[in-house]
Amino acid sequence: MRVPFSYLERQFASSSIPGSPGYTDAMLEDIRAFVQTGDFTLGAKLEEFEERFAETLGVAHAVGVNSGTDALILSLRALSVGHGDEVITSAETFIATAGAIVAVGARPVFVDVRDDFLLDPEQVARAITVRTKAIIPVWFTGAAPAMDALIAIARAHELPIVEDSCCAIGASFHGQRAGSFGVTGTFSLHPLKNVNVWGDAGMITTQDRVLARQLRLLRNHGLVSRDEVACFGVNSRLDTLQALLGLRMLADVEDITARRIACALRLDAAFRDIPQLTVPPRDPHARAVFHLYMVRAEDRDALLAHCNACGVEAKVHYPIPLPYQACARSLGYHRGDFPKTERDCDSIITFPCHQHLSDGEIDTMIDVVRSFYLGGTASRRVAGRTRSLHEAHVAVQQS
Ligand SMILES: *Cc1c(COP(=O)(O)O)cnc(C)c1O
Repeated sequence: MRVPFSYLERQFASSSIPGSPGYTDAMLEDIRAFVQTGDFTLGAKLEEFEERFAETLGVAHAVGVNSGTDALILSLRALSVGHGDEVITSAETFIATAGAIVAVGARPVFVDVRDDFLLDPEQVARAITVRTKAIIPVWFTGAAPAMDALIAIARAHELPIVEDSCCAIGASFHGQRAGSFGVTGTFSLHPLKNVNVWGDAGMITTQDRVLARQLRLLRNHGLVSRDEVACFGVNSRLDTLQALLGLRMLADVEDITARRIACALRLDAAFRDIPQLTVPPRDPHARAVFHLYMVRAEDRDALLAHCNACGVEAKVHYPIPLPYQACARSLGYHRGDFPKTERDCDSIITFPCHQHLSDGEIDTMIDVVRSFYLGGTASRRVAGRTRSLHEAHVAVQQS
């Protein structure tokens, strides 16, 4: 049996698994009607998508841009972060976070993580200098960083927070949604994010009307009208065609999220019983949305090979610490600077965990992992021991 990491095949299949909507037919109908309007650039459907996005996330404004990376870059530009400035962020993140900082001419200052793969606030406080211009906490894996502590530090130093909530749509911390804490929040709608479109797209969220207006200028050449340019900007518009698809996907964000959480709960319960695996601490006051389901594993590389040989498409996010990548050499970091990130890169494994996995596939995945550590016979499941996906899903919806 193959347990796929990517859910796209199933999402795009018209006849998807029972209980999961198939999108393709409805979307193709939408596109057919839309193309006849010719409303491709900053069209009415984009406005509708932005409004719905802001509403769904409980923020005042959402500005559609070309990608999550551009959402970060334009946020930093709107805050006038540039040459000679420092921006503090997590050593354990996707390259785009650091790339965005470099793209505006600033220097990424990396800080190590806690046991939950998320930025350590105490180390953030120690990394602040006179050149620090912003802090970018990352909702890595779709889990909540310590936003209370980070906001207290930012306030004390009068620094803005830009949230890299690119992979955390629907996540929250003490009931407050990702993307609503910082001066801006940033989101990606890349095909592999929890809510996706059929290509690249991103969104910036903000509570600040003036900033929202500035961001709308920056994403469209600074044009205030057809003939007048208020500031230098770029072309980073969210395609109206993608917005059309985003509207349909966004309507399912709660269902997608609940299914992912249900899947993660089952994996957590099973993996906590395997001594060679370490499930990271889960903050009971936060809602993680499991863009990535990651645990630490002994003998990781052999487990990864075993899983892949058995059809379980596990992966590693990511094997090389970002500060030690070739692109970051000039920043002058050395092995030993980020012990937790290094340990994670050597031991983390990411398992498939998404809205299109069946009970049987999750059971298979658990069996494959058990059989690696405990041998063939121990891998047989004890009947009735794990909650079914449906039961877990219902429990999540009721919680
Ligand atoms: C996906 C992602 C991004 C970048 O988003 P794109 O839309 O691919 O540009 C940035 N940061 C994090 C944490 C991400 O997961």
